Amino acid sequence: MKAAVLAHPASIASRPLEICDTPIPTPAPGKILLRVRACGVCRTDLHIVEGELKPLCGRVVPGHQIVGEAQDGSRFGVTWMGGVDGTCEYCRRGEENLCDSPVFTGYTVDGGYAEFAVARADFAIPLPAGLDDLEAAPLLCAGVIGFRSLRVAGVQRGERVGLFGFGASAHLALPVLRAWGCHVSVSTRGASHRNLAQTLGADWVGSERDRLPHPLDRAITFAPSGDVVVAALASLRKGGVVAINAVHLDRIPEFDYDSLLWGERQIRSVANVTRADARDFLQLASEIGIRPKVTAIDGAAVLRP
Ligand SMILES: [Zn+2]
Ligand SMILES: [Zn+2]
Repeated sequence: MKAAVLAHPASIASRPLEICDTPIPTPAPGKILLRVRACGVCRTDLHIVEGELKPLCGRVVPGHQIVGEAQDGSRFGVTWMGGVDGTCEYCRRGEENLCDSPVFTGYTVDGGYAEFAVARADFAIPLPAGLDDLEAAPLLCAGVIGFRSLRVAGVQRGERVGLFGFGASAHLALPVLRAWGCHVSVSTRGASHRNLAQTLGADWVGSERDRLPHPLDRAITFAPSGDVVVAALASLRKGGVVAINAVHLDRIPEFDYDSLLWGERQIRSVANVTRADARDFLQLASEIGIRPKVTAIDGAAVLRP
């Protein structure tokens, strides 16, 4: 089979991914072989290819948003969470997204930039029939993590929810919020992102400096900026929650406790996803018809929010 193999991380300009002929992998017990129908391309892939995420195994095939077909024709999605140990304190608590020894698809094990991929059978998520291959791919990373952010923020139906920053994840979370009857505000810098938010049915759209018309029940921040987290915090009602959907933040600036956090306001981070998040989100995405805008590049799906 053909696979895009990363042997030595390097600047993308030097083309570190090499298309190789490699044997079709043989699945070990508990694993399944998938014919890759599409694989999403994510910024984390770029971080892996360029070595910003330090290599954890020798050669690796990147790609962690795999839409694959098993031998019997059934379709599965494979996310960044390629497996967990099932035995650590967090797994035993049912918090597998926090597992101490996780397996990451396309990082610690081979991913989907290939004609075939092997996945742990219990981490291959059955894909609802309503989802098209290419459109399902970006749902498996940006979509699922955005959905988890809504859960971490504790969003309830009909609440006022603010999205701060409006990229891949946020634009897939917005239709979920609308389906739940939430009042959605979007604060974002770029005019094109504000237009997209408006098109997708946000109730209020503004720049990061604009004051929101009402205090929020929940806020989700998508920008890697601590200033945005503080802005989100300042927009909350008492008891409201800010969920941070960013792996890294530049810093958290000093802020006033009495006016911003007092009153049982909370700040929470969002780390990885559980299989339940993936299953529930894909089901919902199929029911409400979430259609990400993708650009197909020879079987890969690039999300264009
Ligand atoms: Zn990703
Ligand atoms: Zn674990």
